[in-house]
Amino acid sequence: MANTKYIFVTGGVASSLGKGIISASIGKLLQARGYKITIQKFDPYINIDPGTLNPYEHGECYVTADGQETDLDLGHYERFTGIQTTKANNITTGRIYKSVIEKERRGDYLGKTIQVVPHITDEIKRNIRLLGKKYDFDFVITEIGGTVGDIESLPFLEAIRQLKWELGKDALNIHLTYVPYLAAAGELKSKPTQTSVKQLQGVGIQPDILILRAEHELSSDIRRKIANFCNVDEDCVIPNNDLPTIYEVPVQMQAEGLDTAILRKMNVPAGPTPQLGPWREFLERRHKATEEINIALVGKYDLQDAYKSILEALSQAGTYNDVKVKTHFVNSEKVTPENIAEMLDGMNGAVICPGFGQRGIEGKIIACKYLREHNIPTFGICLGMQMICIEFARNVLGYEDANSSEMDSKTPHNVIDIMEEQKNITNMGGTMRLGAYECILKEGSKTFEAYKQTHIQERHRHRYEFNNKYKKEYERAGMKCVGINPESDLVEIVEIPSLKWYIGTQFHPEYSSTVLNPHPLFLSFVAATKECKK
Ligand code: GLN
Repeated sequence: MANTKYIFVTGGVASSLGKGIISASIGKLLQARGYKITIQKFDPYINIDPGTLNPYEHGECYVTADGQETDLDLGHYERFTGIQTTKANNITTGRIYKSVIEKERRGDYLGKTIQVVPHITDEIKRNIRLLGKKYDFDFVITEIGGTVGDIESLPFLEAIRQLKWELGKDALNIHLTYVPYLAAAGELKSKPTQTSVKQLQGVGIQPDILILRAEHELSSDIRRKIANFCNVDEDCVIPNNDLPTIYEVPVQMQAEGLDTAILRKMNVPAGPTPQLGPWREFLERRHKATEEINIALVGKYDLQDAYKSILEALSQAGTYNDVKVKTHFVNSEKVTPENIAEMLDGMNGAVICPGFGQRGIEGKIIACKYLREHNIPTFGICLGMQMICIEFARNVLGYEDANSSEMDSKTPHNVIDIMEEQKNITNMGGTMRLGAYECILKEGSKTFEAYKQTHIQERHRHRYEFNNKYKKEYERAGMKCVGINPESDLVEIVEIPSLKWYIGTQFHPEYSSTVLNPHPLFLSFVAATKECKK
């Protein structure tokens, strides 16, 4: 295509309507038509990145291959499109201000007064267009975090208003709103949508397409009414009803004509509608899989979003194993040696979750012991892998005080330890081992059987590492170090080959599991849990 086209996705009425899923679905549908696309998220908060945010505030922190800690919506973008995102795909108000202030200090603005308009808005515009310019994308989809009407999203909306003016048909705004159902009146109400569109119009943006999230079927009457009141073409008012899984959204959006509306509005010839073959096969297989597998998530955050990518990776692997994965949260802070059997009762496998800090770790260690001794498939991820190692050191190697120096800096048996280069770091943001690193697998291991190759690359997000001083002892006692970083010699994967499936990875495999390319370790883990159920 001659010019890169820009699609802006905004949201109104309420948060959590699924702007991320809609953006990912738009990307998926345009990609299926052969276009080169990318999706980026602009977050109006002041943190530089979500790396230092508590999962209760913000859900999971998603890590890109190039080592940026980002919003969890980028996980949806990757899972839907199979395209890797980068540092440039998630920008926050904090990053915009930081760069403007740095330019000011350098003297780049030649004595000007620095203001929100034009300096902040120009920096936002520059960042919106950065990827399109650099990589020749046909479409750049930009999701704006938060809801229209928030004070902090104003500069972003002003930047969109300007870009729409400058780019004409090459820019488009899709606004996602909510149509509530009043049970007492037995009616769907369009007023909140009208109000939200008025707010957008008030800052100079006329939405081109409205997507209406609703828990009930929207009649053509209400769609017509909304079109009329909001100056939007009738076929550009797209209903988005609740669906059994988020993976149905692209198919529903295609059926409702979202992608053809986008193309028409942007003056792009539509051509035949793509079949979405493999995607539909995935959905079909998912519908057919009815046998339930129960998997415990042993962690400290009782919140769906905190382990988002793990849940999605498990659920995808379930589909490819023709089972339905049911996850059960086990709060590691409540686990004791006395109640662990009851807490894991009926589980066909367990994931020991990632995390930071002392809280809940003793419960994780108790769970590791129980799972190991009862030969239940176990997958330790990052902190989970470290807990697997600590439990083994305490109960098999006989070091009762074994620990990670993160939890006990004075332990004489620091089987998990801080790396030399991490020791003097005082800034917490963005300073961990982050992003993709190479790893060489030992042939013959269970992990190798899963990956079927020796060279892999996986994404990391941690400060502490397996202490190589103890490697020989572990191996002699039956826990093998089967994945090694070729540059640093760090242990990235441990497993106990004599058990059915007992594997810990220092990296986060969940970040790279996508709908059409499920992760080999999750596939193999779910297969083991299915076997265990028999
Ligand atoms: N807290 C551990 C570390 O920093 C593990 C981090 C994680 O689970 N992502 O090494």
